[in-house]
Amino acid sequence: MSTVTTPASEAVRPPVRSARAWAAASPTSPLAPATIDRREPLDDDVVIDILYCGVCHSDLHQVRNEWNNSMYPIVPGHEIVGRVSRVGSRVTKFREGDMAAVGCMVDSCGHCAPCGAGLEQYCTSGPTFTYSSPDPILGGPTFGGYSESITVKESFVLKVPGSLDPAATAPLLCAGITTYSPLRHWKVGPGQRVGIVGLGGLGHMGVKFARAFGAHVVLFTTSPDKVQDGLRLGAHEVVVSRDAEAMKAQAASFDFILDAVAADHDINAYLQLLRLDGTLVLVGAPEHPLPVNAFSLLLPRRNFAGSGIGGIKETQEMLDFCAGHGIVSDIELIRMERINEAYERMLRGDVRYRFVIDMASLRA
Ligand code: NAP
Ligand code: ZN
Repeated sequence: MSTVTTPASEAVRPPVRSARAWAAASPTSPLAPATIDRREPLDDDVVIDILYCGVCHSDLHQVRNEWNNSMYPIVPGHEIVGRVSRVGSRVTKFREGDMAAVGCMVDSCGHCAPCGAGLEQYCTSGPTFTYSSPDPILGGPTFGGYSESITVKESFVLKVPGSLDPAATAPLLCAGITTYSPLRHWKVGPGQRVGIVGLGGLGHMGVKFARAFGAHVVLFTTSPDKVQDGLRLGAHEVVVSRDAEAMKAQAASFDFILDAVAADHDINAYLQLLRLDGTLVLVGAPEHPLPVNAFSLLLPRRNFAGSGIGGIKETQEMLDFCAGHGIVSDIELIRMERINEAYERMLRGDVRYRFVIDMASLRA
């Protein structure tokens, strides 16, 4: 077991407690047990004993430094659900014993235009991400949810509706909001043909939300063995994207497509499925650039856009929508020590449809 130390000046550092976690020391190291510092609660902080943490493909990208901005040691995890164990003196919305959740961000500047509009993910100074972001309070990197506890500013903590299963709720904090937000922003609804590309953690939530919003939903998958699941999860049609004839039959027929693929793929094949003024939104964040042919966009006039997670207010709205519509993630619960194997399965597209770590396995 290694001990992770953070290099902040002791003079300004608030008191800390140590917590058990799993960390990667470098882009080529597996995740392994570590001990990290968590700050004692400041006046507006909530301390959460983590019960469940979802495993996002972004965790894998960042552990392996595929986006070239990782800070080590890295403790991933931004789909966090747990129980409040302590609160600071000025906290009003949470009490000890409440169920609470934390997503991809733990702070932002709070005064730029996007922050003012509830779009903290687009904070012009950059939000403080839940992990692998400079920690403004302790110094060093922030540490995420593959750990037994976390201390977070109240305004970045979400309420978990009581009717939702806590383990299956964890993935909503990233996979859920990342698909809900663009579907809402582009006003997906009845009368529209909507494509979802890739049936992984994000994609399966995209199918559920697009169906709940009343669209005609078509799932595109590279995996023929996911066709039945696609229909069960809410798609009206499933197209196996390796079938060239089946792809051709969908040409120029979509109002909106959400692309949630984690790896290299031909984006032009999907742009060509948009009708006039249709929009393809990329939420997948593959390591390498995706070449776009000009004529995929020009004729007929088409839009190619992107979207990043979602703001705190919209994340709470999404959780409440899920409670109202009985929506959660389809999960496979794993013990912490299975995480490296889970990453290998995620790389093979073999996730049905989100791994969630049972943090009791870390405490045992
Ligand atoms: P995931 O669970 O691994 O799912 C990705 C899916 O993409 C796979 O299940 C597979 O679906 C498909 N796929 C994988 N390799 C492919 C290939 N070579 N060609 C075509 N399809 C392939 O990943 P995730 O957690 O949903 O994340 C998806 C991506 O979104 C990641 O890049 C992640 O970093 C990114 N992300 C972005 C945001 C944001 O704010 N925009 C937030 C979270 C995550 P099929 O088997 O159905 O083909
Ligand atoms: Zn994520």
